[in-house]
Amino acid sequence: MDVDALVSEATARIEAARDVAALEEIRIEVLGRKAPLVQALRELASLPPDERRARGDELNRARRSLEGVVDERARELRRRELEERLRTDRVDVTLPGVRHPRGYSHLIEQTRRDILDVFVGFGYVVVDGPEIDLVHYNFDALNHAPTHPSRQVTDTFYIADDVVLRTHTSPVQIRTMEAGPPPVYMATAGRCYRRDTPDATHTAMFTQIEGLVVDRGITLAHLKGTLLGFARAIFGAEREVRLRPHFFPFTEPSVEVDVSCFNCARDGSPCRVCKGEGWVEILGAGMVDPNLYGYVDGYDPEEVSGFAFGLGVERVAGLRHDIPDIRLLWENDLRFTGQFG
Ligand SMILES: [Zn+2]
Repeated sequence: MDVDALVSEATARIEAARDVAALEEIRIEVLGRKAPLVQALRELASLPPDERRARGDELNRARRSLEGVVDERARELRRRELEERLRTDRVDVTLPGVRHPRGYSHLIEQTRRDILDVFVGFGYVVVDGPEIDLVHYNFDALNHAPTHPSRQVTDTFYIADDVVLRTHTSPVQIRTMEAGPPPVYMATAGRCYRRDTPDATHTAMFTQIEGLVVDRGITLAHLKGTLLGFARAIFGAEREVRLRPHFFPFTEPSVEVDVSCFNCARDGSPCRVCKGEGWVEILGAGMVDPNLYGYVDGYDPEEVSGFAFGLGVERVAGLRHDIPDIRLLWENDLRFTGQFG
């Protein structure tokens, strides 16, 4: 075996290795267990003693030489790979960042909070109630006659004979009065369900906000003043309210409440919000029917009186933002909801 030729050929191959993996393959070929040089070293023992030493020195020098070349090449390749990685992984801090979209509350939630904030500002306590409730709370205790049409299965979703998806937030009024004596200043908000065929102004699920005040000496004037404060906070400081006689089972007298149009000059010219009327209906209200106090303990109609009101969050949102069809609020199309983010 020509050791010098072997060393120079192997050195050339090692120095030409393109990467760490290729270098390792060459190392195994020239310095591994089966490499000719290593085989020759193993066979030294079979040589005559006088040749063994010189041959051993030669082979060991060759092996150390090749090991040195491999180490050198390995360092070189690792350095190059590091340089390459540093070059390609470099962060250019001057590039513009990736802007992540921020979340936002749905318009119904925003409106719900805006309205509740007004009543919290008036000193009301916000109370929650169940969406699935007993017929007792949803109808009976709210003075609905046994034959009242809204009790029908065509109007109301029944879970069982005596359990419904609440059709309004009014059951919370009874539950609140049950929970403690007067005075009561409370507001509640939540989903309600009615068997309505969906159209531009009705959906089978909707969000109601309701308020109840019971205290000594509460009159219709307090109700009107409260609703005026609410209308001005939500629809603008110049608003006026007017009450029109109406009927609800659980209030007496009952009123529908209009707010002066916030969209037009109210001079009778065409207006898509008020249809030229100058007034927009926003809610129903009334003085708590004294009969209701008979369903709870500790409320003497000779001692206390109160008012209640309820309004649809979707309707308020629709009026404030000029939304032509409240079903848009439930479709969750980001192109729509994103306009209110
Ligand atoms: Zn108008």
